Amino acid sequence: MRRYSEDNSNNVAEAKCNMCGRNLKLKNGLIIEGNMSVNYPWGYFSDKDGEIHKFDICQSCYDKLVKNFVIPVDVEEN
Ligand SMILES: [Zn+2]
Repeated sequence: MRRYSEDNSNNVAEAKCNMCGRNLKLKNGLIIEGNMSVNYPWGYFSDKDGEIHKFDICQSCYDKLVKNFVIPVDVEEN
């Protein structure tokens, strides 16, 4: 979960991990630690068509989440 400054900039004013609720580290309006930001528009064939779901997960919670996957995440060099 992130909240932006009210000055219409892209500066993040507050960011929390949706999974554990911890505040993500911020500096000058940027998140300065590993996190996964999801901004997903559900499609026509889902029962959430027309909804955009947004959340942030810290790196520690990401590791816990994907550990439960039956098929591991594909990882490649970026
Ligand atoms: Zn977390």
